[in-house]
Amino acid sequence: MIMPALSTIRAVLLDMDGVLYVGDRPLPGVQDFLDYLDATGRGWLCITNNASKTPEESVAKLARMNVTAGPEHIFNSAQATAGWLAGQIRRDGIIPGKTFMFGMSGLRAALLAERFTLTDDPLAADYVVAGANFNLTYEELAQTAIAINNGARFVGTNPDKSFPTERGHLPGTGAILALLEATTGVTPEIVGKPNPAMFELAMQRLGVTPAETLMVGDRYDTDIAGAVALGMPTAGVLTGITTAAEFAAADPPPALVADDLPALLELFRAADGA
Ligand SMILES: [Mg+2]
Repeated sequence: MIMPALSTIRAVLLDMDGVLYVGDRPLPGVQDFLDYLDATGRGWLCITNNASKTPEESVAKLARMNVTAGPEHIFNSAQATAGWLAGQIRRDGIIPGKTFMFGMSGLRAALLAERFTLTDDPLAADYVVAGANFNLTYEELAQTAIAINNGARFVGTNPDKSFPTERGHLPGTGAILALLEATTGVTPEIVGKPNPAMFELAMQRLGVTPAETLMVGDRYDTDIAGAVALGMPTAGVLTGITTAAEFAAADPPPALVADDLPALLELFRAADGA
């Protein structure tokens, strides 16, 4: 797509892993970049498909990397999923029913924030919401399958089949959802990136439109593809998954590609004449 001048950008959405840090290793220039956005009156929000952590837990992780953010700066796929599903239910004029959760603290907090009632009884569940679960047991999978087989609406937080770690690529939420789909024959509705709902809810929070919002991400198929579909300007960074050659070969490619956040900051400064 045509890149509007960066000087017209009013808000920036940032993916986290591969943009702000890689696993537990901080990437350079994060605080400088965020400070510049603040100083130039631009809004920003970190949007992550990681549904395992609460916003407060993500803030604590950033603080350990000397990056200052508040919970209001974090929007994860658990929040997006809970917000999207609550919106669907309200739109349909239905009283929210009982939800069987398969996930961790981030998903629990997000569902409770949207006033879902949680149940441990799979046969009482109207909804199954499934996300990252690093402590999963066979019995939890069995109970979740029972709820889906019993007709509960099956919703997943994000499609990522794996995620990168220092031990290589390990099973992600998408792999867990695939297991449940294979078991039940039911395909989940999945809300995280690249689903437009995640970007739309994030922009709603900031009160901005797609044309004036830059999405910064390291992964083409989630961060960039989802944002491009909404007409957002996009910037790929080379500190994570997708390589320069892969960004260049993508259709459509991101509007711009920067080595890292310091390089993107220089582009902003130049565009602003700062
Ligand atoms: Mg990433």
